Amino acid sequence: MPSNQGKKAHLLLVDDEELARNLIQEYLSLVAPEIILHQAINGKDALEKIRKCEPQVILSDIIMPEMDGLKLLKEVKKTFPPTKVIFITARNDTEAPIQALKLGAFDYLRKPLVMEEVVHVVKKAFEEWFLQWDLKEKEEALEKNIKELKQIEKNLSIALSREKEVCGMKTRFISVVSHEFRTPLTSIRSSAEMLEDYIGENEKAKKYIFFIQTAVGRLNELIEEILWLNKVEDEKQIFKPIKVKIKDFCEKIIEETKNGFQDRNIEFVCTLDPRQELLLDESLMVKILNNLLANAFKYSSNDAKVSLTVFIDTLQLDNDKLPKEEKNFCFLGNLTLNPESYENRQFLTFVVRDRGIGIPEAEIKRIFEPFFRGGNVGTIKGTGLGLAIVKKAVEKHGGLILLRSVPKAGSEFTILIPLE
Ligand code: ADP
Repeated sequence: MPSNQGKKAHLLLVDDEELARNLIQEYLSLVAPEIILHQAINGKDALEKIRKCEPQVILSDIIMPEMDGLKLLKEVKKTFPPTKVIFITARNDTEAPIQALKLGAFDYLRKPLVMEEVVHVVKKAFEEWFLQWDLKEKEEALEKNIKELKQIEKNLSIALSREKEVCGMKTRFISVVSHEFRTPLTSIRSSAEMLEDYIGENEKAKKYIFFIQTAVGRLNELIEEILWLNKVEDEKQIFKPIKVKIKDFCEKIIEETKNGFQDRNIEFVCTLDPRQELLLDESLMVKILNNLLANAFKYSSNDAKVSLTVFIDTLQLDNDKLPKEEKNFCFLGNLTLNPESYENRQFLTFVVRDRGIGIPEAEIKRIFEPFFRGGNVGTIKGTGLGLAIVKKAVEKHGGLILLRSVPKAGSEFTILIPLE
């Protein structure tokens, strides 16, 4: 006999004949002791008992004084609709059983009763009742879950629109403030230039003007970087790939970067044919290489070796083999989201290596965050925006970044740009 979370099976026997009731009760308690039995002497008495014992199944005679079986059935269907009602009818009665079935009775049994049949029909009625009960509970749980999910969805969409609003405000704020800085900075710069013409050979004054110009230059750089990052976040920076001769392109950037660092040397190895052209967003690539090479110089001593190696290769790493937990390693890219899309694909690979101060283990995973600077940079100047720009520019190419860095030994940044 099925039961639902400890819910017991209750059967109400309704018959005006005590002997008939006792007979059924005796038999049922022998063959189905799990059913708890209750008795009522007519329809009216049954309605009172139903309220107290809440039976799932009623086994009732049709003809009874005070309230007959059919009236009882009508009341039950009105007040306790899930209850299963089985009727006992006289052998020749054809009309009452049909009417009972029409009114929603579960089944009927004919007199004289065959006890095995009684047990079979009663058990079937209980089975159906428990099945329906189970279904109802599951439906209710499902409805509750759906309601909760809908609420979560609603909350999320509210949070998202708020976030968008705040983000929009932040973007506008940064943009307005940065633009407002530009104008006074331009007048400071041009005023300093004009002053230069007046002071002649006054060395001290020349030195101060140089300080002003350097400071203005740094502030301008910072504003440009902030505005650029703001633009990419806002998706306004469009990805514009064009055919680029990689070797020439790298040599040009090396020259430009060296200029800012007293012509320090960069060991450059490129295995690509000088004529080979590949599709890249040139302005984004300039940002990537410029920042990485400048950092390699900045964070290593003047005589330390800096190298740039460029080649095309397939990606040998798969997601499981990435040394993600390694302390001196950091990986950026959406390989984790879709490893298949990177398998056997060719990558244009740039490796920038230096033998500088390296990045502390605890900070390696945060180094690409805007404004984050390593604890070991000392007096080396910087804004903490260069690597955030590199990250965005690589993301725009759908590329990957691998970083391996050991404090006091050096760093190796590998940029993988998928071809096609
Ligand atoms: P910035 O150099 O202006 O501080 P970046 O965003 O370029 O900003 O770099 C963030 C931080 O990452 C740096 O402050 C430094 O701590 C660390 N870093 C970047 N490149 C290197 C490198 N080649 N060697 C050691 N540390 C580096």
